[in-house]
Amino acid sequence: MTKKKRKKKRTQNKVRNATIQGMRKAFAHFSPTYLEVVEKRRITKPRYLKDGITRHKVDEVWYSCSICNKLEKKLEVDHLDPVAPIGKSYKDMTLDEIYERLDCPITNLQGICKECHENKTALEKIKREEAKND
Ligand SMILES: [Zn+2]
Repeated sequence: MTKKKRKKKRTQNKVRNATIQGMRKAFAHFSPTYLEVVEKRRITKPRYLKDGITRHKVDEVWYSCSICNKLEKKLEVDHLDPVAPIGKSYKDMTLDEIYERLDCPITNLQGICKECHENKTALEKIKREEAKND
């Protein structure tokens, strides 16, 4: 039996989507502003380790979610006013526009946990659907 390799169709749209994804990742990994947002939520908590006889203290680093205050090892950076405004999608925006909105002032950013980020994104998705039907 021969296994046929399915060729993934190359489209200009895939290039565009990957470019947008790449811009998002670039900000998440390299933007000093995004790092500042997460570092603002940093706290250290002492933890005592016992090894039978001795006890020693280690300072553990945690980050508290701006929405639910839960402590996490990692936070995500969220745009209060989303990159693609409600009623708009990336399709309606130029790459420059998307870049400008990613490169927003720190006041539009918050450090939140994965769960809160997913909830907020899901809510925005509903709002987008509603906006489409208006
Ligand atoms: Zn949270």
